[in-house]
Amino acid sequence: MRIHQVHLITSAVSPAHYPEHDLPEFLLLGRSNVGKSSFINTIINRKALARTSSQPGKTRTVNFYNVEDQFSFVDMPGYGYAKVSKSERQQFRKMIQDYIENRDNLVMVIQLIDFRHKPSEDDVAVHGWLMEHGIIPMVVATKVDKISKNQRPKNIKDILNTLKLEREDLILFSAETKDGKEEVETVLDEVLQI
Ligand code: GDP
Repeated sequence: MRIHQVHLITSAVSPAHYPEHDLPEFLLLGRSNVGKSSFINTIINRKALARTSSQPGKTRTVNFYNVEDQFSFVDMPGYGYAKVSKSERQQFRKMIQDYIENRDNLVMVIQLIDFRHKPSEDDVAVHGWLMEHGIIPMVVATKVDKISKNQRPKNIKDILNTLKLEREDLILFSAETKDGKEEVETVLDEVLQI
């Protein structure tokens, strides 16, 4: 799909504000600062529709984007920021759970992890909750350009071992070089049967 038309449908503060529509939804999850906004902007061919912020944990709303009237990206707040309290963490878990258990529009979860580091405890926990719900996310490792080609096999191995994934379950991505963009687009097209 060539993407030209994108707009923000709504910034919801609670499930009551989630839009009623028929669009299939791709839920995006990842730690604060993982590169989620940059990922969305890369896929929708924009420089700055989804806001990139260097203040981790700032976005508290769930943002629904209409992409080409074909599907929706659902951008949840980043998780796992060190300053987040235990109760906020629980709220976040509840928010994901509510969404994945009740949202009929959901077609796929995209979990973003930072390629530079081993998946964090939060990454592992979120991945675990998804698997408990029978959801196999598309796992996208971001900021791949920051790691040299020689170093990459080790980082790949760490991610696969930590999250118990097969190599074909992992997409290496860079918003800088656009590595992995086509691979992501192919998966989206397959899910949408375009
Ligand atoms: P978010 O908080 O998850 O939405 O993360 P952002 O998209 O705002 O990115 C956080 C920071 O990482 C910003 O300074 C981005 O420019 C940077 N960043 C995001 N993706 C990449 C990438 O693929 N490569 C590089 N080198 N930097 C990136």
